[in-house]
Amino acid sequence: MPTLYVAATPIGNLEDTSARALRILREVDLILAEDTRVSKNLLSHFGIKTRIISYHQHSRVNRVDEIVRLLKQGKNLALISDAGTPGISDPGNKLVEEVVRLLGSQVKIEPIPGPSAVTAMASICGFPTDRFLFLGFPPQKRKRKQFFDEVTDSKYPVIFYESPYRILKTLRELSALDNKLSVVVGRELTKKFETVYRGNIPEVIDKIKSAPLKGEFVVVVNS
Ligand code: SAM
Repeated sequence: MPTLYVAATPIGNLEDTSARALRILREVDLILAEDTRVSKNLLSHFGIKTRIISYHQHSRVNRVDEIVRLLKQGKNLALISDAGTPGISDPGNKLVEEVVRLLGSQVKIEPIPGPSAVTAMASICGFPTDRFLFLGFPPQKRKRKQFFDEVTDSKYPVIFYESPYRILKTLRELSALDNKLSVVVGRELTKKFETVYRGNIPEVIDKIKSAPLKGEFVVVVNS
């Protein structure tokens, strides 16, 4: 049966690529990437020459047709995203949804698990994470207030992603709702300038403000 492998890739540190992911990426007929320019760095680092196309850019509808046609021909494909686990706050889940809808049990969909910023953060935050709520990115306009209410009302630690341009704004808005919240912010996890900030929100804002506003951020909030 043709297989669509959904393969996790590193969130920064190439050593986090699993041996299985490397083998699958070498063996499949085609790699489906979010952005081929980003993924080519990973593939060339490991000397992987498998053909790669973008499933996300250009016309998505035609791409899905093409991917479905390839799977029907019996080809094995691997889906990867720019970083981490496909489908976790990136467009990978849309493709899987379409393949399930159009091909159902004619195709095997197999995970190749590995890094994700959400699980990396859950593992180091020090809050009780046997249960937690993951909310992706805060909305920029509509439903933003609702998002923050969900964070402050949650019975469980809440993890979300944020960009370097909005991290301070988001933390300030949260702090205005409740400045006693405990927070852990992970910046550039697994990378050279990895930093983890812990404290209440005003303390963490002060620490982040004193460094250049660059990098990728993941936030955990605990009431
Ligand atoms: N699929 C990815 C995953 O499994 O984590 C997430 C994709 S989402 C488009 C990208 C966001 O994840 C970044 O904007 C950042 O908030 C978070 N992120 C990714 N890599 C990170 C890292 N090394 N350190 C901290 N946050 C990271």
